Amino acid sequence: MQTTFVILKPGTVQRGLIGEVISRFEKKGLQLVGMKMQQLTPEILTEHYSHLRSKPFFQTILSSMMAAPVVLCCWRGMEAVNVVRSMCGATNCREALPGTIRGDFGISIQENVVHTSDSPENAIAEVARFFKPEELFEYSLANQPFLYASDEIN
Ligand code: ADP
Repeated sequence: MQTTFVILKPGTVQRGLIGEVISRFEKKGLQLVGMKMQQLTPEILTEHYSHLRSKPFFQTILSSMMAAPVVLCCWRGMEAVNVVRSMCGATNCREALPGTIRGDFGISIQENVVHTSDSPENAIAEVARFFKPEELFEYSLANQPFLYASDEIN
């Protein structure tokens, strides 16, 4: 099982789409193992988006990500990183396929509804960056026998 990290961006909070987005992950069969609301700071965003530091749009990402509080969440499931990434769709909402979260709820490159971890290594780093160990929950999912075949998970 993997745990992946998702940010519901300020635009998602402002547009009243929190429930819609979370509902998709729940319906998929992912297990919510951590969730909180937070006002992001330049410090944490500079670390989180360090790979984009040289980009001309870096400052606008920072201000857009601080425009309102965000919802941070962690989702657990088999291959959760790739599953969530493909559910979110391409970075540019105009290119994201219909049926994906960005394809259905956005029309911008930057205001693209969600952030999601792009690799298992980054998921581990991002969960640790935004969540304290005591904010993550280990519990058995009552419907797990109906989500996976008995020989599919160990
Ligand atoms: P992703 O969020 O899909 O992993 P990146 O890590 O490449 O994509 O970019 C991080 C965020 O920076 C994107 O989600 C988006 O908000 C913003 N961004 C990426 N590319 C551009 C761009 N060309 N113009 C404006 N904003 C961008």
